[in-house]
Amino acid sequence: MAMRQIDHWIGGEQRRGSPQSMFEVTDPVTGAVIAEVPMASPGDVDAAIGTARSAWPQWREASLSTRAAVMFAFRELLEQHRLELAETISAEHGKVRADALGELRRGVEVVEFACGVGQLLKGERTDDISSQHDAYTVRQPVGVVAGITPFNFPAMVPMWMFPVAIACGNSFVLKPSEKDPSVSVRIGQLFAEAGLPDGVFNVLHGDADAVNALCEHPGIDAVSFVGSTPIARHVHRTASLAGKRVQALGGAKNHMIVLPDADIGQAADAAVSAGYGSAGERCMAISVVVAVGAIGDELCEAICRRIDALRIGPGLGTEPVDMGPLVTAEHRDRVLSYIDLGESEGAALRRDGRGFTVDAHPGGFWVGPTLLDDVTADMKVYEDEIFGPVLCLVRVDSFDEAMELVENNQFGNGVALFTRDGGAARRFRREAPVGMVGVNVAIPVPMAYHSFGGWKDSLFGDHHMHGPEGVRFCTRLKAVTEHWPDPADRGVDLGFPTAR
Ligand code: NAD
Repeated sequence: MAMRQIDHWIGGEQRRGSPQSMFEVTDPVTGAVIAEVPMASPGDVDAAIGTARSAWPQWREASLSTRAAVMFAFRELLEQHRLELAETISAEHGKVRADALGELRRGVEVVEFACGVGQLLKGERTDDISSQHDAYTVRQPVGVVAGITPFNFPAMVPMWMFPVAIACGNSFVLKPSEKDPSVSVRIGQLFAEAGLPDGVFNVLHGDADAVNALCEHPGIDAVSFVGSTPIARHVHRTASLAGKRVQALGGAKNHMIVLPDADIGQAADAAVSAGYGSAGERCMAISVVVAVGAIGDELCEAICRRIDALRIGPGLGTEPVDMGPLVTAEHRDRVLSYIDLGESEGAALRRDGRGFTVDAHPGGFWVGPTLLDDVTADMKVYEDEIFGPVLCLVRVDSFDEAMELVENNQFGNGVALFTRDGGAARRFRREAPVGMVGVNVAIPVPMAYHSFGGWKDSLFGDHHMHGPEGVRFCTRLKAVTEHWPDPADRGVDLGFPTAR
């Protein structure tokens, strides 16, 4: 049987382009190659950007009610096709169906936010700011926005970006992850069905070459990136040097501090859900649990009991499962090598996911849930982002020591505190140098009405994504001053204009 080919989505149609190579997309459950996706050539990049630029002037002039109507229709289509979209995600990513549906819901939330574009773009006006002068501000679109996204949320992360950008009157070129690219093309088709003019939303598949071309191309005005820290830093630097506005979100090592007064059962439920959900391939996954005081053994045992009850298997099978395989064989091997490293660094392996397999699918990219105990801050397994089902347990004596770990960490994406002490919680939320803070919430991903983003090496640039910050990123502010003079009030005045 011929291999399924995935196309670009440019100008409202599928296009093969003239690829410089093909990337093989695998099914993480079986390990089989299921499709090929073209890696864009420089000519393909030019074509996508050229199409987006040509579509922009007309879209920029579309009224806010027209744009909102398209967004409402798009939202309805996404809801109607949610099962199909979730299965497309799961087939290439490996996450379980319920998790893929959750990802879609959080993406649709941003579309719902963007439906309110008329409210979001309201400016400010001051009548009679000076004699017979009125002043007001408006927000105008920046032009063509490029979005470059990671494998772990192939629908939600692009939807953090393009609904806001497009509702604000920009056109958009999405460069999704090559590992699970199909859903982005389907989203393009649904957006067209919703009435979006051709060329306003485009999907360009590619690798590092395509990303670098987008970052340097004069036809791109702003770049939104989400991925690992080294690439986020590179994209921020390259696109900034080329004079573009950039927001580049990077990796994470999210801590969950458990104070001695916490409800240990509730904390263990949260640690296991946030640590192993989506096989730990979430930028907001908890990867370090910090047990404060004498609760270490009790918490460790409570986590182990819950790990032992997890069901692991194919995400689209008939049996209900909690966790699927990792995305690629290469990523599985990287995660396994970190478990080896943790052992050699002296961590205690309370649960070991190496060697885990599913009998019916021996070729799948499986890693079982792993718990490394007695981890210390000088270990590589503590320092590095592992991005798999590997939880580190660090034991400390005091809240101050736990806070020091958070303060000294390279990353600042998410952090959580589990406690019943309001004073400790207040200190925590004020002092943690982290972009998204949870109190008794392990995955504090802000809803679409607020903005998403980390601090330190988890974000390069000034703007967080979606919510009010997303609107600011996708628009330029313009201040207008108007004077409709009384015909009698004339005369030359070379002085610098001041209010009167
Ligand atoms: P990645 O950095 O490997 O890839 C992200 C994007 O960059 C992809 O589109 C990829 O094709 C492209 N890319 C890869 N190598 C490149 C290179 N050398 N030059 C230019 N572009 C390149 O990330 P990933 O493995 O797909 O995703 C996982 C990472 O994303 C994790 O580090 C995770 O923490 C991070 N992430 C962060 C957030 C956040 O909100 N901060 C959200 C999701 C994922």
